[in-house]
Amino acid sequence: MSPDVVVVGGGVIGSSITYQLARRGARVTLFEAGSDGQASLASAGVIAALSELASDALRELAVESARLYPALCADLQERTGIDVGYRASPLMYLATTDSEQRALMHRRDRLARLRVGSTWLDGARAQEVEPSLADDLRGALLFSREHQVSTPTLTLALQRAAADLGATIRSEAVDRLLVQGERMAGVDAGGDTVWAPEVVVAAGAWSGRWAQSLPVEIPVRPVRGQMVGVKTAGSLLRTILFAPDVYLLRKAEGWIYVGATVEEAGFDARPTVEAVRDLLTAAVRRVPALAKATFAHTRAGLRPATPDGLPLLGRLPGLVGASIAAGHFREGVLLAPVTGELIADLVLHRRPRLPLDAFDPARFVIRAA
Ligand SMILES: Cc1cc2nc3c(=O)[nH]c(=O)nc-3n(C[C@H](O)[C@H](O)[C@H](O)COP(=O)(O)OP(=O)(O)OC[C@H]3O[C@@H](n4cnc5c(N)ncnc54)[C@H](O)[C@@H]3O)c2cc1C
Repeated sequence: MSPDVVVVGGGVIGSSITYQLARRGARVTLFEAGSDGQASLASAGVIAALSELASDALRELAVESARLYPALCADLQERTGIDVGYRASPLMYLATTDSEQRALMHRRDRLARLRVGSTWLDGARAQEVEPSLADDLRGALLFSREHQVSTPTLTLALQRAAADLGATIRSEAVDRLLVQGERMAGVDAGGDTVWAPEVVVAAGAWSGRWAQSLPVEIPVRPVRGQMVGVKTAGSLLRTILFAPDVYLLRKAEGWIYVGATVEEAGFDARPTVEAVRDLLTAAVRRVPALAKATFAHTRAGLRPATPDGLPLLGRLPGLVGASIAAGHFREGVLLAPVTGELIADLVLHRRPRLPLDAFDPARFVIRAA
């Protein structure tokens, strides 16, 4: 039987949409190509809805998504038995120079106007909160109500829960989107044609590759992010640490995440020696005890970026039955729960819980016919 909806891409975004569609009773098939550089696999999984400086529209989405997290994770645990590593994690921005301190004061003041509280700690007090920090610290801005999750585990749990609800998960690449006149009709994948009245493109950084066969621009490009995983003997790091050149956090699985580069490298998802060297040098400068850590792994992920920094969420203009959820750049994990709900509602012709106008894919130039 043909599905009601085909979802293209099984990163955290496509998996969240598939799960929400399945929960709403839709017959859904998810295709996942297994591309090198899946962003969700490399992600730090920081859910920083409060401490980020974002536009009003993105902030509204982020706060709602963070609000949805606890119930979603509890639901996934109950359905699949998987603990997705959702944890409260205080977060500190570090300053070692005057200008870094000034930037943090600016962040504190701007967020205070939005009623987001934070606490400035001098170097000694920051070291009381995080004893592993180096002595050259000027101070730190503490946000005590942020969270984190294990993104690969979350993605897996979303797919398992969707499958339990009847969704079909296929580990195959979609080769072609089938357009008939002004309507999206389905996809070609793995030698099959799968007809469906609704297709959702959630292929992360690869979403723009369909543009040639569609009457609309999809200006999504890959921005590479590299990270390094290390292991320590003790339980180093109580908080998530952000510095201008590196960020660090302990994952629920017991290793420490050191991230991340932001590089224009096209679709090249290979980790480089230079990035590993720079990340580890910066990490040891902030937390000297990390010099004794052992190397666990390195990964590179391709973040889906858009020209205006906002994701593309909504109907693709000029095509009936076609939607997109891509371009979440550095916030895809944070935004996954709300994206899943909004897109599932949109596709099933229900009223989404938040306005999507700021994220309308039609904001980019429509190609002349
Ligand atoms: C190093 C790093 C750290 C990050 N840290 C954070 C963080 O702390 N917090 C946060 O909120 N965000 C973070 N992000 C960003 C976040 O990971 C991304 O925004 C998010 O993972 C994007 O999810 P996605 O599903 O859109 O893309 P992806 O996870 O890249 O998934 C897209 C999927 O589409 C599949 N695909 C492509 N083409 C096809 C096809 N033809 N057919 C079928 N499938 C296809 C690919 O195989 C891929 O699996 C980080 C990203 C990186 C790289």
